[in-house]
Amino acid sequence: MNEFELIQHFFTRSACAQGGENISLGIGDDCALLQIPAGQSCAVSTDTLVCGIHFPDNSPAFLLGQRALAVAVSDLAAMGATPIGFTLALTLPQIDAVWLQGFSEGLSAMAQRCAIALVGGDTTRGPLAMTMTVMGAVPKQQALLRSGAQDGDLLCVSGPLGAGAAAVPVVLGEVDPQTIDADTLQSLLAAYWSPQPQLQLGQYLRSKAHAALDISDGLLADCEHIAKASNVCLQIQQAHVPVAAAARQVLGDAAALECALSGGDDYQLAFTIAAGELGQLQQQFPAVRVIGQVCAGVGVELLDDLGQPITQQYSGYQHFN
Ligand code: ADP
Ligand code: MG
Repeated sequence: MNEFELIQHFFTRSACAQGGENISLGIGDDCALLQIPAGQSCAVSTDTLVCGIHFPDNSPAFLLGQRALAVAVSDLAAMGATPIGFTLALTLPQIDAVWLQGFSEGLSAMAQRCAIALVGGDTTRGPLAMTMTVMGAVPKQQALLRSGAQDGDLLCVSGPLGAGAAAVPVVLGEVDPQTIDADTLQSLLAAYWSPQPQLQLGQYLRSKAHAALDISDGLLADCEHIAKASNVCLQIQQAHVPVAAAARQVLGDAAALECALSGGDDYQLAFTIAAGELGQLQQQFPAVRVIGQVCAGVGVELLDDLGQPITQQYSGYQHFN
């Protein structure tokens, strides 16, 4: 099988590449053609996953396809965008039909959940790596930036944190899965391998939230980005941070909290919003939790039950540290 047969068989014909709304031309020409609806901006984001760095060698191909796309689409959710299409730059050590079939099916499963279509890509030989570029549309002036947080806003997260990071030792084979009860194991693996991009919430928050991002590197590290871009201080009540039950099950309360604060890999949204929006928001999105507030100042402050600052020993993941 040559490069072109590979593309044809595993990508052009895959379920995720069968067109979609706002796609005038998909795979097969020099470029794809997307329509951005009138009055909307095109939101674009790229993520690269490298074998041995972002996922372990011998990761199941189906799960990898799911996760790679979910991680990329999460950035569209964080912007309040509606997905349109994505490209896939895939570097493979060799042509392995079984692997490619699994990967393409995993991609298609997540693409269907997110209503996004594969519109092009590039296929090269080399150490296993993949780059996804996702594109979506968001009404002009309504994109959720990091820079709009206002003194007096509530700081919220979209759901429980810590399961993605707690799953990593299991995914890496450092922990024997047999030592974990079946339900907990399933929650951990689902959190890691098929995070659900918070697309509906992101779209709801358009022109409501003042600042937002998806939590990929850890709550504290990512909140620093909002604080810096908005020139404000984010205060977080540690006791109000929702910690995933599965993380507490396997790690105990203290280590699970650390995963929730600095673990990353959860792809929930963190956002700031005026207090008056909260009632309706929580009615539609009951998993949303208020974890703190925005005030004048700089950086992120983690507070104990008495409102006293907790010295931060935590920080997010950074590649060049
Ligand atoms: P070009 O040389 O013009 O860049 P290619 O030969 O690399 O074109 O690719 C042919 C077509 O197949 C293009 O439409 C490209 O977008 C698409 N394509 C290549 N690799 C992939 C892939 N891994 N997934 C989806 N589409 C792909
Ligand atoms: Mg090419």
